Amino acid sequence: MAKADTYPMHSSPRCTAKSKRSGVRCCNPAVRGWTVCRMHGARSGAKPGAEHPNFRHGMQTKEAMAMRKKVMGLVRESRAALQGVDNP
Ligand SMILES: [Zn+2]
Repeated sequence: MAKADTYPMHSSPRCTAKSKRSGVRCCNPAVRGWTVCRMHGARSGAKPGAEHPNFRHGMQTKEAMAMRKKVMGLVRESRAALQGVDNP
């Protein structure tokens, strides 16, 4: 039985990482849902938010800090608006 030139696995998406030295593409099979292979960063990094291993109380999350920034902007605005008003 003759060997096939290409198997279905060879038509799978390939890693897009390129070598720093030679500029040649990696071309290992890419992890499903990623554009790179398991050696080039697929599935790496910690999850953001409460799933992050260093998550403590949520006061330093992007959402919480954005909310505090927004609230402080409103406070600043209201103080400026009340600047000319006399206190009773
Ligand atoms: Zn790769």
